Amino acid sequence: METANARPNLKKEEHAAAEPALKFLTLLELGPSSCRWPVNSPAPRSLYLFCGSPTDGQKPYCKLHCEIAYRPNVRKQSATRQET
Ligand SMILES: [Zn+2]
Repeated sequence: METANARPNLKKEEHAAAEPALKFLTLLELGPSSCRWPVNSPAPRSLYLFCGSPTDGQKPYCKLHCEIAYRPNVRKQSATRQET
């Protein structure tokens, strides 16, 4: 005796857009107020991609990447422990 294979959990719609609207831009697509933080590692024959998020118009990076770029105590930590 076989029972019908009922599958109530079939995916009808897949929500692929779960991530925030990050779209990476190439250099040519960057606007005057687009974040210029490179998001991919430079590989030959591949385009550089940049963050592209809107900036405040004064800095070259978006808020998130400004925090990374201008983080004040990164240098201290890496430079202190150098004893030979
Ligand atoms: Zn950014």
